[in-house]
Amino acid sequence: MTKEELWQAVLAQIQLNISPANFATWFKNTEIISKEEYQVMVSAPNSFAKEWLEQKYGKAILKILHSLDGEVKEVKYMVGKAGLKIFKKALAPSLSEVGQLEFQEFKIDKETNLNPRYTFENFVVGPFNELPHAAAWAVSKNPGFVYNPLFVYGGVGLGKTHLLQAIGNEVTKETPKKKVKYIPSEKFTAGVVTAIRNREVESFKSKYRLIDVLILDDVQFLAGKEKTQEEFFHTFNYLYEKNKQIVLSSDRPPKAIPALAERLRSRFEGGMIADIGYPDYETRIAILKTKSQERKIELPEDVLNYIATNIQRNIRELEGALNRLSAYQKLQNQAPSLEIAKSLLKNLILSPAKVVTPKKILQAVAEFYDLKERDLLSSSRRKEIVRPRQIAMYLLREDLKSSYPFIGRRFGGKDHTTAIHSHEKIVRELEGSESLNDEINLIRQRIFSG
Ligand code: ADP
Ligand code: MG
Repeated sequence: MTKEELWQAVLAQIQLNISPANFATWFKNTEIISKEEYQVMVSAPNSFAKEWLEQKYGKAILKILHSLDGEVKEVKYMVGKAGLKIFKKALAPSLSEVGQLEFQEFKIDKETNLNPRYTFENFVVGPFNELPHAAAWAVSKNPGFVYNPLFVYGGVGLGKTHLLQAIGNEVTKETPKKKVKYIPSEKFTAGVVTAIRNREVESFKSKYRLIDVLILDDVQFLAGKEKTQEEFFHTFNYLYEKNKQIVLSSDRPPKAIPALAERLRSRFEGGMIADIGYPDYETRIAILKTKSQERKIELPEDVLNYIATNIQRNIRELEGALNRLSAYQKLQNQAPSLEIAKSLLKNLILSPAKVVTPKKILQAVAEFYDLKERDLLSSSRRKEIVRPRQIAMYLLREDLKSSYPFIGRRFGGKDHTTAIHSHEKIVRELEGSESLNDEINLIRQRIFSG
């Protein structure tokens, strides 16, 4: 048996014993990397999957492997790259996966955190983003002196991060000695938390004070993080007074960010506020054409028209559609016809409005943690149950905007303070834990795809 066959045989057995969703989550893009004497090395697509395989399925995997090949006595796990093979699998990759694969060759700069793929050159301008684009361009040409701060807001996937990073990349290109730093707000928050815990607040502060252009992405995530807001307020003032540039983005205008300290809100509103709207049809076509060129593919007009007509509110999804078709084209060596494009994009375009319900959230959480829904509703204090329950409550609050009393009732008649406590606990933990963030996003994928 080759190692590929061996792993296929293992997967076949595992598949019989776990739910399809769990199988897809944990075993997709796994493979045997090497087999030497008694040891087998299995690769997983990310560290989170690696841990789960090790801890939750490790015993079963070893047992099956050993039964297939008596030599095998030990299984090791590592994080490997997902590889382009993904396209050949029956399981269609999620759009974000394809998006990432397409751009893996870009390296994020360690100093600035900038991704060189985001530039002004490949940023398509149309009526929907003309103003933020013009402001961003002006800022990049004269940082600190035109619009300070520049605050860009708009819905998901509409180009905020791209535009913000383009400013940073442009400044770095023009004046390499200027210190530019791009940082997502969650990272900034995590930095504050760590600094406080390690008593390094002073060095944290001074690090940020050397910056010429500070770019803070998705500041809506500062909502309710009082300590972080306070730190950022001081940093902001310091930089502002020294005529250093500050650029911010958010999914909503400053006045709509809840639990934002008034003094910070008024700072955010003190410069230029520019919003990105939805691209019109012509711009959507222009974006598709630009990005086809980048990918060195050419799609028939009717296919472009089909995508632009059916995806209207998210440029990331336009790109995702293109990536799927581009993968097809590269594998088949021919452009997809309209009919093929329709079938390739079926679950992206035709999916009916995805309705999320408390029931769906409960199901997804229970399934993810191998629990019964009634465990989540019970009053058990067992650790394996308490935490998933808190996460489920968190999701009800975050994604459904359920009230605390409603959440309490939905979970077997608990008090609303239990719901508040659970939500807060997870929010706090998320500030310091990337892996919890990944974990919750995996659950979300199930909620939104199921
Ligand atoms: P946001 O931060 O608003 O969620 P992103 O900046 O991450 O959105 O954009 C999502 C994807 O769409 C990125 O791959 C980005 O390069 C692309 N994109 C967004 N706006 C444009 C644009 N005007 N021209 C070209 N590509 C764009
Ligand atoms: Mg973004």
